[in-house]
Amino acid sequence: MTNPISAPQGGSLAGRPVRTRFAPSPTGFLHIGGARTALYAWAYARHHQGTFVLRIEDTDLQRSTPEAVQAILDGMAWLGLDPDEGPFYQTKRFDRYREVIDRMLADGTAYHCWASPAELDALRAEQRAAGAKPRYDGRWRPENAAGREKPAGVAPVVRFRNPDDGVVEWDDMVKGPIRIANAELDDLVIARADGSPTYNFCVVVDDWDMGITHVIRGDDHVNNTPRQINILRALGAQIPVYGHVPMIHGDDGQKLSKRHGAVSVMQYDADGFLPDAVVNYLARLGWSHGDDELFDRDAFVAWFDGSHLSASPSQFDTKKLRWLNNQYLRQLPDDELAARALPRIGRRLADTGTLVDDDPVDENRARAALEAAGVSLPAVCGLLKERAETLEELADLAMMFVTEPAVDAAELAAKMKPGSREALLAFAERVGAAGHSAEANAALIKAVCEEAGIKMPAFGMPIRLLVFGRAQTPAVDAVLALLPPERIAARIRQGLDRLSSDA
Ligand code: GLU
Repeated sequence: MTNPISAPQGGSLAGRPVRTRFAPSPTGFLHIGGARTALYAWAYARHHQGTFVLRIEDTDLQRSTPEAVQAILDGMAWLGLDPDEGPFYQTKRFDRYREVIDRMLADGTAYHCWASPAELDALRAEQRAAGAKPRYDGRWRPENAAGREKPAGVAPVVRFRNPDDGVVEWDDMVKGPIRIANAELDDLVIARADGSPTYNFCVVVDDWDMGITHVIRGDDHVNNTPRQINILRALGAQIPVYGHVPMIHGDDGQKLSKRHGAVSVMQYDADGFLPDAVVNYLARLGWSHGDDELFDRDAFVAWFDGSHLSASPSQFDTKKLRWLNNQYLRQLPDDELAARALPRIGRRLADTGTLVDDDPVDENRARAALEAAGVSLPAVCGLLKERAETLEELADLAMMFVTEPAVDAAELAAKMKPGSREALLAFAERVGAAGHSAEANAALIKAVCEEAGIKMPAFGMPIRLLVFGRAQTPAVDAVLALLPPERIAARIRQGLDRLSSDA
């Protein structure tokens, strides 16, 4: 494959249109850390009306899988981080890497090295014994190799000829100025004995070919940067601006892992988080704009100019994400909330088998159940959204409107006080007669309680159990208003009948 984009040669990148990239290795799902890196690279490009490139670094054939590529694409699509170019696949670019290696061999910026693994092990052992840092000693550099016998049967690797003196220095967008002495770096292998290019080398050629002006990535790559800069220089390429974003730690300060719950972005989808909330949360995790916590994508893009990135690791705060998700749930129109809750309700119905329905599609199953119950899901969502932090919690709560209550007779008996039965039967008799709003129900509840001479809990507790099968619901007048009056009346009567026949 030829160079997709004409590679800029030498000089400064200042003033060039911004081009960023996200370059995941497809060895697993898109995790939270990767998603945040992608978000920053995406937002930086958007802020500057630039270009966001997606590059799949799949040269590690053993560890890369098509499923992982798909998981990354799915995760990015879910978050709404659409690339302007790509995905480009490194495995489709081997000819190009070969071409650059040949050029470097020809111009002397790279050379063949025949040192065998055993020989290198011996060298390292010697260096360690002498108290020195183990490093390749340049024995096959052309100037040192004169008279050296090429061992038979050893295929050479290709090494980059790292400069001996001077320092590599860059002004990191996140960490500020970083300087590494070339004396610290040895001659990196850029092609293995089988001819395959190595990781750091492919990254360099790609960043060059793709005209990347800003490399925003995890700080686990900070040690690669001086090597990559040296190779870029040797190629006569322009040096991008680098920004190394620190790690994300779990709630407990440890490295983020499965232990901390969801680490795959798509798991957050399954758990009922909204992509906008996750984007807002990740944006704020390691970057700040004053005290702003709640902001939409457009505001983030407008603000994200590469400043105010935190140089210290961030701590994932599940509570805060849940709080934020609740804010986003509340902002959604009830119709939209209902559309998102619908399949989750359908799944629950299939699991509990409450509704026998031949239609296997979750949405249809839920729709049928709602219709049978005479319940409007948008109205239910409107009432419940304040107390649900996720769509899963919303669906859990909504289930009380679509399933027949399983009334615990003992619990009900315990909540019934003298006068409860009369008040409940009076309510069953009159519910809906003078309207079925929360207000109308509140007035009726007040009236029947007064008539029976009981206090509110002696009515409120039993009616919750009778109608919803649970002792806890939002305000009883409001939840009742969401069920058809005849259903409420029927449940009250049936439940009380059962109670008297049990007694
Ligand atoms: N492929 C690397 C990773 O997934 C990222 C390399 C880069 O951004 O330069 O960690």
